[in-house]
Amino acid sequence: MKKTYLFTPGPTQVPPEVTLAEAKPLIHHRTSEFSNIFAKVTDGLKYIFQTKNGEVFIFASSGTGGMEACVVNTLSQGDKVAVVKGGKFGERWAEICEAYGVEVIPVDIEYGKAVKPDLLDYLLKKERDVKAVFVTQCETSTGVVDDIERIANVVKGHNVLLIVDAITGIGVHPLMMDDWGIDIAVAGSQKGCMLPPGLAFVCVAQSAWDAIEKSILPKYYWDFKKMRKGLGNKTTPFTPAISLITAAGKALDMIKEEGIENVWKRHARLAHATREGIKALGLELFAGEASSNVLTAVKSPEGIDINSAIKRLRDETGVTITGGQEELKGKIFRIGHMGYVNDFDIILAISAVEKCLYENGYKIELGKGVSKVQEVLVSCKK
Ligand SMILES: *Cc1c(COP(=O)(O)O)cnc(C)c1O
Repeated sequence: MKKTYLFTPGPTQVPPEVTLAEAKPLIHHRTSEFSNIFAKVTDGLKYIFQTKNGEVFIFASSGTGGMEACVVNTLSQGDKVAVVKGGKFGERWAEICEAYGVEVIPVDIEYGKAVKPDLLDYLLKKERDVKAVFVTQCETSTGVVDDIERIANVVKGHNVLLIVDAITGIGVHPLMMDDWGIDIAVAGSQKGCMLPPGLAFVCVAQSAWDAIEKSILPKYYWDFKKMRKGLGNKTTPFTPAISLITAAGKALDMIKEEGIENVWKRHARLAHATREGIKALGLELFAGEASSNVLTAVKSPEGIDINSAIKRLRDETGVTITGGQEELKGKIFRIGHMGYVNDFDIILAISAVEKCLYENGYKIELGKGVSKVQEVLVSCKK
């Protein structure tokens, strides 16, 4: 018998209600029935991005497609941008920009550390012709969360666009499009939104349209102007991912019912319990103080082949956690706890980590992490 438990930083677990909504017989997308679903989903997305004035576009793509859309809609060849690079996803912003002939000023941050907003202030004072700043709310490759509110405060003072990869941040950490003055933010379906992969959500504030009008990078499918026109007719310009959008309607209903503030609080509480459980096992958090509520990145203990240990855990028990990527391969492991996650998921995840390490030669007392998690969850009320 095989049962699977995903504790990965995407894809994440999908509630059965959402899967059922996705499995409904297809309807045609040029109908009022679909338009009603589409309009409801768009409203639900505006709620999770905390925007009243902005618009949200839904692309059939993974999150990276949404990132590319941000670049091609706001910039032109030869433009200069600043990119916060503290991990693989910050690096992706830079790679996309460079692919289109946009000049990148890298803001290199040591892996596992958050960017200091003052550093951006200093850079923007020095480099007067920067058009946009690209940041990552939660750098999923390292487990770090950046302070987008303070970053937005700095960037706004320089009259520069702020474009945020909130692909894992959304629905986990607060992200206030309107209140913080973010110009564009991207999210993806398979992280905190409790959906399968396949949708990118791009939230565009009114303040971004001046740059969008001026941008001459090539684009066709990703064109925000086409998307905006479609939105006026409660649809997308090209065939939407009908089943996934229907499923999104259900997932967003669940978020609305819980209340976004409670969703943020739930993640904070569960992430706190995870970190305490990890520490109780004598392990160290890779991102220390900057650890996000999206996932917990942990330094791999010495003398253990973490990747084969993770593979063995998955093969034998169906529990999936992940290792590090590229430079961090073998050095860390990551436990995702975003989206459809509750107290007992954390207990299960920590018990799996214990088993995984124990059976691969790391000396721990079994149950020590689990009992700490229990203790934290019992004492730290919802
Ligand atoms: C997962 C992720 C992405 C990439 O999304 P894809 O859906 O794999 O294209 C980008 N940024 C962050 C922070 C992510 O976690």
